[in-house]
Amino acid sequence: MTNTIFAERKDQVHRKGEEPFQMACDKESLAGAVSQRACVFCGSRVVLYPITDALHLVHGPIGCAAYTWDIRGALSSGPELHRHSYSTDLQESDVIFGGEDKLYRALTQLIERINPKAAFVYSTCIVGIIGDDLSGVCKKVEREKGIPVIPVESEGFKGNKRAGYNAACRAMFQLVGTGPIDDISPLSVNILGDFNLAGEIWIVREYFERMGVKVVANITGDGRVDDLRRAHGAALNLVQCSGSTIDLAKMMKDEYKIPFLRVSYFGVEDMADSLYKVADFFKDLDPEIMERTKALVRDELSELYPKLKEYRKALKGKKAAIYVGGAFKAFSLVKAFRLLGMTVELVGSQTGTEEDYKELHEITDPGTIIVDDSNPLELSSFLEEKDVDIFVGGVKERPIAYKLGVGFCDHNHERKEALEGFVGMLNFAKEVYSTVMSPVWRFTPRKQAISSKPQEMDVCHERKAIKN
Ligand code: SF4
Repeated sequence: MTNTIFAERKDQVHRKGEEPFQMACDKESLAGAVSQRACVFCGSRVVLYPITDALHLVHGPIGCAAYTWDIRGALSSGPELHRHSYSTDLQESDVIFGGEDKLYRALTQLIERINPKAAFVYSTCIVGIIGDDLSGVCKKVEREKGIPVIPVESEGFKGNKRAGYNAACRAMFQLVGTGPIDDISPLSVNILGDFNLAGEIWIVREYFERMGVKVVANITGDGRVDDLRRAHGAALNLVQCSGSTIDLAKMMKDEYKIPFLRVSYFGVEDMADSLYKVADFFKDLDPEIMERTKALVRDELSELYPKLKEYRKALKGKKAAIYVGGAFKAFSLVKAFRLLGMTVELVGSQTGTEEDYKELHEITDPGTIIVDDSNPLELSSFLEEKDVDIFVGGVKERPIAYKLGVGFCDHNHERKEALEGFVGMLNFAKEVYSTVMSPVWRFTPRKQAISSKPQEMDVCHERKAIKN
């Protein structure tokens, strides 16, 4: 039997009910464990690239620029510059003699050609090593071209994906506070941490419209540079994917005294709760807002619940596993599966915090495996051990599920159907139903993962073996 949990990762895996709750997290990934996480640069790219009217230039070898709109497509209602992927394509001679001239030429030519509202210039590993003066070049081009040119300090080796989120937030914060705010309504919010992968931000904005709340800036799905510049005029920040954008909310709170609320637009419970939280925040300014919000939720639910009933009947007792980037989505998915009558056997995230895992521990059933920063070996063995009917994750989790003959629901990169809002819950139910109940599983029986029960292993033994 092959071992599947490294001894060094033991404290990042918890089985609810089998031991007192304690979990390590927010650590560097274990070498040799092949983490599902991306690098710092990718973390910053995920957050920033949905800003649709900016130039996104990756300063580094062409391979770093592989993470493009094609891997995770964020929809735009207007400009589509974010769908283009630009790189300075550093070569050996640039590494030896420096890449600043090449960066200057790439930036000036691109700005002249595509006329963006701002430019983000991402630093990659090699740029950090050779020491190109990214911010010096950006300042020079900004002076010459008259648009914000913002360096993103996202060298891949600087930490884990969370460090990339922080670099993105610091980059965006340079734009905030530079636009006019005179005409902004006192009932206004910024939407942080939604990336509009399948048009979700438009669903949520429509709910706020019906409540009488204006949205100043989408940060960052369907985002615009000019909106970000005015974001300091909003009365409230709503933070969904807290891992990716909470640092920006905190900076805006410190600098502009804008409070923030953590919300989620996935699932019925969290969607309704988020709208009520916003209504409660503005109730002194607008005494009617709570009534309008209740009516909105009532209308949506009266349409949704009868349709969900059939799916619930068919899915009752089926088992799910969840592994996502940010933990907020995991909370909502646990509740959404419960609403469908299903159990969650495994739940984990790439970048969860201590508070996140405490919350997951509270809302899950005994026996659930909770895991931080997992890897394919662990995930495969957990899926097999729990014999789940569906696995929810992103582009890197899909092959794990299919190799084992398990149904998969993409809740991230390749999603084409909106899964947020009340209508999103219905879409989710449909997708889970058609995946779990598909006749294809009669012809593709479950395959054996490497082991039948996850065991601990010691990465040091492996390293010694390699050395010897
Ligand atoms: S780890 Fe470094 S070299 Fe690799 S993709 Fe990230 S920035 Fe590029």
